[in-house]
Amino acid sequence: MSAGTAISPNLALDQEVARLRAAGNRVVHLGFGEARLPLPPGLLRALGDGAEHTAYGPVAGRPEVLAAVAGYHARRRLPTEADQVVVAPGSKPLLMSLVAAVDGDVLLPRPAWVTYGPQARLLGRRAWGVDIPRRCGGVPDPAALVDTVRQVRERGRRPGLLVLTLPDNPTGTLAPPGLIRAVCEIARAEDLTVVSDEIYRDLLHEPTAAFLSPAEVAPERTVVTTGLSKTHALGGWRIGSARFPAGDRGAELRARVLATASEVWSSLAGPLQSVARYAYEEPPELTAHVARGARLHAAVARAVHRTMTDAGADCRAPDGGFYVYPDFEPARAALAAHGAVDSASLERVLLERAGVAVLGGHHFGDDPGALRFRAATSLLYGATDRQRRTALDSDDPVEL
Ligand code: PMP
Repeated sequence: MSAGTAISPNLALDQEVARLRAAGNRVVHLGFGEARLPLPPGLLRALGDGAEHTAYGPVAGRPEVLAAVAGYHARRRLPTEADQVVVAPGSKPLLMSLVAAVDGDVLLPRPAWVTYGPQARLLGRRAWGVDIPRRCGGVPDPAALVDTVRQVRERGRRPGLLVLTLPDNPTGTLAPPGLIRAVCEIARAEDLTVVSDEIYRDLLHEPTAAFLSPAEVAPERTVVTTGLSKTHALGGWRIGSARFPAGDRGAELRARVLATASEVWSSLAGPLQSVARYAYEEPPELTAHVARGARLHAAVARAVHRTMTDAGADCRAPDGGFYVYPDFEPARAALAAHGAVDSASLERVLLERAGVAVLGGHHFGDDPGALRFRAATSLLYGATDRQRRTALDSDDPVEL
């Protein structure tokens, strides 16, 4: 993982695929964290209705938008006031503002989403990877976390922020409640601020799966970030939000994030705030749309997991979001014959010889061998709107 002049690896791969396709190559693109769903009419209507908001708005967001986000969290066992919330152009800038807002270095599960580490380094911080437990990602192993905190302190540095991803990118897994409790206890003992990145939270493969937010366990120190990019397949509209703790600590953190926001993006675009309000109020037709998308992703993720396991890869069963993260270490000898000796060369061989674009585990700070496959509505890529609608209505992916 680098920071400096390199553009983020997922965006770089996306551009490479576009270039290859423009040159007439056929590429199956499973390297980008995005789903494609039809645009529900309600979202388009909200965008149009919001066009009247042509003036700059309040930095945090308009009051009715913040109230809608607060309601969203309250329906998920997190009582929230509107003044605990901020909306922004995507959760990415909020995550970076949080690094800026908290003194000290950043602790990340390893592997972790490609952007957390570079964001820390762009701000002159260091990011420390902590091994994950064997069965799930997105959270560090508790014993490894204690050990890393000790080592970071021994180097004369101060660990400040712990980032958790629930469900996780890249592993596609969801940390169980017991693990969340253990990690939150350590965060409290070590006085870490926790960022719980819950952008895939409403995309659980089993809707009844036990989801425990760190904000329920350590409410005084946990910031929850989320957004509409994944659940609503609206990445290009750039709508994200953050929920801060109640009380002084949360108010101070929020004020710091707003200071950054006011100097960097001013506010979320007016019409998109109207979209955010509509979406976070969760009207039944939109909830049904998100749930249908989630069922599709689940079907694809299970199928990809089965295929990978059958092929001999070591692969955790996915719980949510839209990734599957097989490790091809067991097939090392066979792959070496094709010139693939680590995840970087495996990524390249797959793209050049098979026309399949995926991201290697090294981009996530992982040991060589693993690859991240996007397992979203990939079967719908290239489908006509009618085919997509049919698939969404029937719950089954359309085979093209
Ligand atoms: N967190 C995670 C774990 C992600 O995968 C992504 C998108 N790839 C984001 C945050 C950022 O999403 P956005 O900025 O579109 O809200």
